[in-house]
Amino acid sequence: MAMKGLAKRTERKEDLRRDIDTLKLHSLIGILAGTCSDNIEAAKFRVASLAFVGAFKVSELVPDNKEGGGCPKIISRSAWGAHATKCSTPLATPVANVIIHHSAGPACNNRVKCTTIVKGIQRYHMDTNKWCDIGYSFVVGEDGSVFEGRGWKKIGTHAPPFNSKSIGICVLGTFTSRAPSAAAQNAVKSLIKCGISKGFIRHNYDLRGHRNVGQTSCPGNSFYKIITKWAHFKP
Ligand SMILES: [Zn+2]
Repeated sequence: MAMKGLAKRTERKEDLRRDIDTLKLHSLIGILAGTCSDNIEAAKFRVASLAFVGAFKVSELVPDNKEGGGCPKIISRSAWGAHATKCSTPLATPVANVIIHHSAGPACNNRVKCTTIVKGIQRYHMDTNKWCDIGYSFVVGEDGSVFEGRGWKKIGTHAPPFNSKSIGICVLGTFTSRAPSAAAQNAVKSLIKCGISKGFIRHNYDLRGHRNVGQTSCPGNSFYKIITKWAHFKP
């Protein structure tokens, strides 16, 4: 048990170090290029960024999910290259509802592909729908990756009239005739637990499919059938 705990701590430390490296990398490239770049994989920049270690307060670099509470790793907006939000309305928390969506679009099973899709959804929601940001609170890929959308603290645009009283979680893919992967399902459950532990979701929350609160088939028949068996489901 002790060994397992130690290994887990080491792993978390590694994750944190990677996140910090990535953030520093973004900052460095921002400084060099005068803008934020999408393609930031260049190893030389990564090495150079290590020189910036002392320039940041660690407390500013620690993502929300690193503060405990059994939270999944959440890919921050800066890490996935989100456009700056134009939203300002805070979400009154803890919310009483969690709303489940599917994207009704392509599925993805790795970080690169999922990131591309999330960026596309944000662009669509902002440029075409004229929303202030990507509509969902969080987006989940079938590899189990969790992307920060509006996050815990801002009202989403995903399931009126429940936007102001819910967290909206969207799994990438179309789940009309197949279920999302176990990794995606576990990530959603873990994210809900995380929200409760951090005080953003009520302990006695109601879990609903988008179709339960609006005129839509979302989150698809197969996924919907699954969430009806999850804890706290309320039609
Ligand atoms: Zn939906």
